[in-house]
Amino acid sequence: MKNDRTPKGFGEAAPSRGRFVNTGNGPTLQPIEIGHATHVALVDPDTAFWSLVRRDQLGDALNDSPLLRAYRKKSAEFAKEMRMLRFGLKPSAVYFNPTARCNLNCTYCYIPETMRRSGPQMTTAQLLDALARLKDYFKTTVPKGRLPQIVFHGSEPLLAREAVFAGIEKFGNDFRFGVQTNATLLDDSAIKFLTSRGVGIGLSLDGPEASIANRTRQTWEGRGAFEHVIRAMDKLRGYHGYNVICTVTSENMRHLVKTVDFFHKMEVPACMLNILRCTLPRSRKVKPADADAAKYFTAALDRTYELYKRTGRKLLVANFANILVGIIAPTARRLMCDISPCGGGRCFFAVAPNGDLFPCSEFIGLPRFCGGNLFKDSIPQVLKSEPFSMVTGRKVEDIEPCDRCAIRHFCGSPCPAEAHEMNGGMKKTGAFCEFYEEQVRYALRLIADGKDSAFLWDGWDKDTKTAFDANAL
Ligand code: SF4
Ligand code: SF4
Repeated sequence: MKNDRTPKGFGEAAPSRGRFVNTGNGPTLQPIEIGHATHVALVDPDTAFWSLVRRDQLGDALNDSPLLRAYRKKSAEFAKEMRMLRFGLKPSAVYFNPTARCNLNCTYCYIPETMRRSGPQMTTAQLLDALARLKDYFKTTVPKGRLPQIVFHGSEPLLAREAVFAGIEKFGNDFRFGVQTNATLLDDSAIKFLTSRGVGIGLSLDGPEASIANRTRQTWEGRGAFEHVIRAMDKLRGYHGYNVICTVTSENMRHLVKTVDFFHKMEVPACMLNILRCTLPRSRKVKPADADAAKYFTAALDRTYELYKRTGRKLLVANFANILVGIIAPTARRLMCDISPCGGGRCFFAVAPNGDLFPCSEFIGLPRFCGGNLFKDSIPQVLKSEPFSMVTGRKVEDIEPCDRCAIRHFCGSPCPAEAHEMNGGMKKTGAFCEFYEEQVRYALRLIADGKDSAFLWDGWDKDTKTAFDANAL
């Protein structure tokens, strides 16, 4: 209660009008060094707004500049867009594991060995039943006119070929299908079946020659998969719906430049150079040091640029393109590892061969992250289960040092499975940080040099609008 002697202003809200950057109610804009000759970046870590500013104009930019005035008008829109992306999406895809078994024994597989040797496998009837249930569920989440996506995923899905192909045949009008395979069972008739139906095909290959690629990808008896993959790549030449995943480990990182040369020579339309996930202890044996992996990874990206300039043909590095597009137009992202919470359990989920549901394939070997069963439980209930909530509730703001990292919405602090298993909890970082830092710096340097479109898929901006154009100021 106020009386005559109450000092003026008592009980009123603090009066900051937000006139200054980084104090009071003013916008937060952190300058970050990107290793560029003339520019630094200014980033609002909360809204993921950024601008590149000349080094000698940084002080002015933080004062009452046109950039700042324009950003003030737009900041609420940026914040809303980021909220939507982080908390407003509904599932539209499933990683579907029709079998737990695999004919390979790759070093870094996230499925435990006992499951891969003798785990369950769906019958055709079970797989068709599962797809029918998913079709019904997606009617409630995916807007009319769009198709949800089913990616048959590993272990090795083509061990359940009959069931998988029956599913693709029966539900071809209901889903967009993809198959991620080690290529050992991808014979001519399988290629014909899949390509004639426009099914996406992902192959896995960890190097440009057998002596490198086979270090991490071998059969149980120790024979490498290299020749199988090359054969499949030859057969798929000209098919636009295929890509090759190369997992970056201590075993192959020194050869990434030669690897992209090789992919380009083989006319691979898109690849992913995915940094290793260290979820299970076995994979940590081939964990590269962050800074080394970043050095070789960015050298490989440099090479894709040279190849493009020399030949006019792009080799898209899709995981990096996603980082780049996540900076330029956050909602145009296609992959969801580099946003927090990640896509696991909210944009997609994973189905195990017995119907158990997990937030992402990365959790399939971890029984405590099973949220229910597709054949017994309602999917909306499973999405709210405690194991799913642990993943969907993992936010960069709750993780140290991500909570004060300016690029937290370009990195996302992946991966919850890795953080939980390797570092002891959801509020921990995963296995890498410097790698992600360098990836974002590299992306911002490309933008500063006007090279970014050479790294993006053609037509990436077809459905996006420019929310803010600093060049127009
Ligand atoms: S960050 Fe990990 S759990 Fe999340 S979507 Fe990526 S692989 Fe899956
Ligand atoms: S993992 Fe590292 S780069 Fe990524 S948000 Fe956290 S602190 Fe930033």
